[in-house]
Amino acid sequence: MLDIVIAGGVVIDGSGAPRRAADVGITGDRIVAVGDLAGMPARRRLDAGGHIVAPGFIDSHTHDDQLLLEHPARHPKLLQGVTTVVTGNCGISLAPLVHGHPPPPLDVMQASFHASFADYVRAVEAARPALNAALLVGHTTLRVGAVADLGRAANATETERMRAGVAAALAAGAIGMSTGVYYPPSRAATTQELIDVGAPLAGGAGIVTMHLRDEGDRIDDALREALAVGRALNVPLVLSHHKLMGAANHGRSVQTLALIEDAARTQSVCFDCYPYAASSTMLLPERVAACTDVQVTWSQPEPQAAGRSLRRMAAERGIAPEALAAALMPGGAIYFAMSDADVERILAHPLAMIGSDGLPGDGVPHPRLWGTFPRVLGHCARERGLLALEAAVHKMTGLTARRFGLAGRGLLQPGCSADVTVFDAGAVADRATYADPTAAPLGIAWVLVNGQLAVDHGEVAHGHAGALLRRRV
Ligand SMILES: [Zn+2]
Repeated sequence: MLDIVIAGGVVIDGSGAPRRAADVGITGDRIVAVGDLAGMPARRRLDAGGHIVAPGFIDSHTHDDQLLLEHPARHPKLLQGVTTVVTGNCGISLAPLVHGHPPPPLDVMQASFHASFADYVRAVEAARPALNAALLVGHTTLRVGAVADLGRAANATETERMRAGVAAALAAGAIGMSTGVYYPPSRAATTQELIDVGAPLAGGAGIVTMHLRDEGDRIDDALREALAVGRALNVPLVLSHHKLMGAANHGRSVQTLALIEDAARTQSVCFDCYPYAASSTMLLPERVAACTDVQVTWSQPEPQAAGRSLRRMAAERGIAPEALAAALMPGGAIYFAMSDADVERILAHPLAMIGSDGLPGDGVPHPRLWGTFPRVLGHCARERGLLALEAAVHKMTGLTARRFGLAGRGLLQPGCSADVTVFDAGAVADRATYADPTAAPLGIAWVLVNGQLAVDHGEVAHGHAGALLRRRV
């Protein structure tokens, strides 16, 4: 007797293979059969007629470290069909750190830190998260805890402390390390510091994900630095949220993609991206000039600025936007500085995975937090025709699981974990916008996490079915 049969749907299995009509049988937390299951008895049948049945989506780039510990009635990721999140990106993780006032960008987490990675792992397991999580340890978090003067490269003792922190995080269950040398606390880190701190990742122990030092005029140098780190460590490299910032750099994705493709012939490298031409991070006055507009997402000194245009506010006050940005810090913002052509070219590339990079702690967040996955399926695949639906699903399931070392996830095949998303290919759509960023998407019928029905037509049905995922290749 099967526990659940998802009957009458069209399976897109996450491998990139063409769709086919098939039922899906689940027992416990496993997929046990894919095919014609009409005669098989089951405790529960879900009629998926007219729907696509896919592996649950994997959000390859999140800052959901604190969200894992919380249980909102409306969950931004579950409602999009996401069943696994990779946390701790961009150098920022919630552990290990003991610090009274962590500097930006650590404050984007809007959360308290944990003294050891094992403590954080215990907190996640005790919270029984809504979806599965694979955790990265952040180099910037380690650096803030270990380096006495963040304005210089780490000395030998500090490097050894950070390296031990990476080893301890891996032992506690982390799947790798993230870096973010773009951000002030890590700007003084040298390429060699990253290589030395990342040493425990070697030999298959973990991956490295890297937010580049520069995503504008000097992106070529920054890409070469990241590729060198991946090569020196001999570990899989994920380039974070690949993009080109500033009008002067629009169109350069032709060259950056060629550079990455060339490297991919001799090393493991891929990248994540989201389907929007605006980015979001901490408020940084030096970033304003390259943008056509900037929208504030939160501000500690002026909470009422959240959701407002920085340029409009600056004009009202008769001051420079950069001066206003400095006055609103600490805070966060959305930066309109990419071209749609670059965004689409990057997203359609075979090495691209989907990652939202959403910031759940923001007062008025970037719509990517609530819209990324339905937007790729609806806007990018169906409406824009940028890629086949099978390729779109692959970029959010099988490709991601393989690159991050999450064997048994991301594929809809017998023996795999029963993470499943059932959606209407004709109706799936994002509704989150810059003006209304937390509108839930349309067209996601059911989401199963480890065999438990987690979402039933837009309502969270089970908010504790997730598990902590270890690296398994
Ligand atoms: Zn980042």
